[in-house]
Amino acid sequence: MNNCLFCKIVNKDIPNYTIYEDDVCLAFLDISQATLGHALVISKDHYANLLEVPTNVLKHMMGIAQKIAKAEAHLPNVKGFNLLNNCNEAAGQTIMHFHIHIIPRYEGDDLVIKFQEHPLSSEEFVKLAAKIKEEF
Ligand code: AMP
Ligand code: ZN
Repeated sequence: MNNCLFCKIVNKDIPNYTIYEDDVCLAFLDISQATLGHALVISKDHYANLLEVPTNVLKHMMGIAQKIAKAEAHLPNVKGFNLLNNCNEAAGQTIMHFHIHIIPRYEGDDLVIKFQEHPLSSEEFVKLAAKIKEEF
């Protein structure tokens, strides 16, 4: 897609530090390195986000994300991972080309991923679960 930074990376118009490539996806080091080894898996075809990517492509990419995590688990001091997808601007997506973040975690790293609590009554939980199920 014109003017998409990740399409330009797929087309090799912009350089990247590749760690894995196949017909469906490309994985490379994120330029921001939230922690050491922070990597991205991107689809080779352009899909805007999680809601647009075909399920078979998503499944394949999750398998590659696991492969990268297994490799990075051997790097010094890596103790765990966060796998992350930001879907749409409201969730912090800045590049509108589907990608999965693989973020290695180290003891005492200063990365903050904060879940705020929104307390619900059991009645509200039941209603919310029903509402979601209706939409499948
Ligand atoms: P998101 O905010 O989920 O859309 O993530 C976009 C990610 O792309 C950010 O973590 C950026 O650091 C990363 N990024 C932007 N430009 C480049 C680039 N040229 N090479 C590698 N990573 C990039
Ligand atoms: Zn794109």
